[in-house]
Amino acid sequence: MFGRGSRGSRQAEQEAGYTAHLGAPVAVDSAVRLDAVTKTYGRGNSAVHALRGIDLSIPRSTFTAVMGPSGSGKSTFLHCAAGLDRPDAGRVLLGTDDLTRMKENDLTRLRRTRLGFVFQAFNLLPSLTVEKNVLLPLRLAGERADRRRAAEVLTMVGLDNHAGRRPAQLSGGQQQRVAIARALVTRPDVLFADEPTGALDTTTAAEVLTLLRRAVDDSGATIVMVTHDPVAASYADRVVFLAAGNLAGELYRPTPEAVAARMVDLSQVGARQGQAA
Ligand code: ADP
Repeated sequence: MFGRGSRGSRQAEQEAGYTAHLGAPVAVDSAVRLDAVTKTYGRGNSAVHALRGIDLSIPRSTFTAVMGPSGSGKSTFLHCAAGLDRPDAGRVLLGTDDLTRMKENDLTRLRRTRLGFVFQAFNLLPSLTVEKNVLLPLRLAGERADRRRAAEVLTMVGLDNHAGRRPAQLSGGQQQRVAIARALVTRPDVLFADEPTGALDTTTAAEVLTLLRRAVDDSGATIVMVTHDPVAASYADRVVFLAAGNLAGELYRPTPEAVAARMVDLSQVGARQGQAA
């Protein structure tokens, strides 16, 4: 009904993978792993505990959605997991590399070569053609402009005929598909998506989510997506919930209804805690 991609035995395998990794001291096949990640903004009375010791393993070739009420720590989680921000304590492992111990230069290079990013606002460069936008991560990483690879990822997102256009000549959905092609061009270990459908209508959002789902199922991509939309989350294999900086449960094979129900529970708990404070 919601146009999700193929599931079945692959889903069972992935779920087994998750289970094997939950709480395991060494997660062999994690694309990303957070160990006791803590992040606090400010100090003393005004300190905000955005993440309070997050332990989470994201297996390779899986699609994970991160949800939670506003202020629950989703952006902070994404920024720490993607090496855009440093936790105060704990570790973030990309494969076996500890991002929290890396120098800024190495981290920047790692983000360019091994991570992909998709944001709500597309963030394409208006003066560049679609093809040049897609090739940008390779350019920034000092690699050659592999036009065959650009054509390949543009074909994946159904825009191989639009390589010579500029972003302003495309619809919002098409622009986000270019952003996905750009994020995939380096074959990243993990693609991080922050509200990728936040600026799109329902039909276009479904197309973009189907593409992300396919990148996982057909190309083995690993995707971590922050969203507030239960329908978007239902495209994932697993939804991880955050509340007040803590992990607050997870759902496998999520349906929009189950995700929405869980979100209502979380916001009611939050409201009760707010009243008690
Ligand atoms: P979400 O993405 O779920 O809305 P955030 O990760 O943005 O949550 O924020 C978690 C908490 O940390 C919130 O209380 C927010 O106000 C606070 N916060 C986020 N960024 C900063 C910052 N740069 N300085 C101070 N507080 C921040």
